[in-house]
Amino acid sequence: MNDNKAPRKSCESFLNDAFEHLEVDPEMQQLLRSPYREVRFELPLKRDDGSSSLFYGYRVQHNQSRGPFKGGLRYHKEVNLEHFVALAEIMTWKTSLLDLPFGGAKGGIDCDPIQLSSNELETLTKRYVQRISMLIGPDRDIPAPDMGTGPREMAWIVDAFSLIEAFNLAVATGKPIELGGAKGRLEATGYGVALITSMAADELGIDISAAKAAIQGFGNVGSNAARFLHERGTKIIAVSDYSCGLYNEVGLDIDRLVDMANHKQKGGKLSECSGDFKKITNDELLQLDVDVLIPAALGGVINKDNVENVKAKMIVEAANMPITCDADTNLNDKGVVVIPDILANAGGVTVSYLEWVQNRQGYQWEKQKIMDELERRLKRSWEEVKSRARRDELNYRKAAYVIALERIIKAIHLRGF
Ligand code: GLU
Repeated sequence: MNDNKAPRKSCESFLNDAFEHLEVDPEMQQLLRSPYREVRFELPLKRDDGSSSLFYGYRVQHNQSRGPFKGGLRYHKEVNLEHFVALAEIMTWKTSLLDLPFGGAKGGIDCDPIQLSSNELETLTKRYVQRISMLIGPDRDIPAPDMGTGPREMAWIVDAFSLIEAFNLAVATGKPIELGGAKGRLEATGYGVALITSMAADELGIDISAAKAAIQGFGNVGSNAARFLHERGTKIIAVSDYSCGLYNEVGLDIDRLVDMANHKQKGGKLSECSGDFKKITNDELLQLDVDVLIPAALGGVINKDNVENVKAKMIVEAANMPITCDADTNLNDKGVVVIPDILANAGGVTVSYLEWVQNRQGYQWEKQKIMDELERRLKRSWEEVKSRARRDELNYRKAAYVIALERIIKAIHLRGF
C-alpha cells in the first residue's frame, strides 16, 4: 500500500470503462467520481505506559443517492485519505450491485492494532466516534468491520454513539451477536467468496470439487473462504498471511489451519506453524499454477511487476482492489477470468444490511434465514452480472460496474440532479 495514488488510479480506470460503455455525460461522471465528503482528524491517545501517541482518523463518504453511506472501518498503519477515497467508492458500487439501499463510505485509523492494548483501542475507537458522531448514525452512515477491526470495535461504537445520541443498535453492523449482531455476519464474506467462486467455476467449466486453489491472506475472509471451499471439495494447496505462505501440492489440512487462525487474534502467525507443508513466500503463492487464485489480503498485490508470472485460470477478488488496473488489462488479454471485488466479497455488506434491518425491527433472525437470504441475493447478483457480461460482451468487472452505475444514475435522476 505504498503507492498512494495507485488505488485511485485503478478506480478511475475501471470507472472510465463503464462510463464509456454507458455513454455517461461529463457532469454525471464528475459527480460520481468525487466523494461527497472527506474528513481527517487528529486522535491523540494517552498510552497505558503514560506516554502519548498521535494518530489520524478518517472517514470518506462517497455517495448516498440510494441510501445512507455504508462501509467498513479499517485499522492499519499505512492507511491514508487517498486509500479511503478509493475504498469508499468501491463500497458505492458494491451496495448498488447487490441492490442494497445504501451508498458507500470507508474510514479508519492509521494505527497498528497489534501494537495497542485493548484498553488503548477502546479509547481510540470511542474518541473516533466522538469526533464524527454528527456524521454517522443509522440513517446517515453505518460503519462495519474491515481490516483490523471486528465485533469488539463495533460494540464500542454503539456505546460511544449511544452516550451522545439515543441508544441505537443500527449505528454499526458486524456487532457481537449478544449486542444485536446478525448470526452468520462473521463468516458471511468468506462464505460469499466460496459461493461466488463455485458459481463462476461452474460457468467456466472448472469442477470446484476437484479444483486447486491458493488463498493469500488468512484472516477472517481468507480463512472462511478456505473453510467453505474445502467443504465443497476444493483442494487448497496454499495459504498465507503476512509472515509466510504454506504449500502442499495435494492439499493443506484446512481444518487444522482454520483452528489456528481462530487463535491468531492472540498474535499467532503461519510462520510458527509446523506440519505437512513447505514454506513459501507471498509472491510465490501468487505465481502458483492453480485453477483459482484468491487474494484475500491487501490491495494492489497483483500489479504490473508480477502479473506476467500469474498462472491461475481464475482470480476471485476477496480483498478490495487486489489487482491494479494495469495488471487487470494484462490478465484480460491473457484470458484470465477475474471475479471483481464488488461481487466476490459482497457477502459481508449484504449480511450487514440484514443486521441493520433486524436492528431497526428490534428482532433477531435465525442463522438459517440469514444464510438463505444471503445466498439468494448473491445468486441473483451473479446471474445479473453473468447475463450482462454475455449480452454486452463485457468482462465480469465491467458488467458489474455497468449494473451498479445504472442503478445509481437512475436514483440520481429520480431524486432530481
Ligand atoms: N468492510 C466490508 C467491505 O469492504 C464490509 C462493509 C460493511 O459491512 O458495511 O465490504
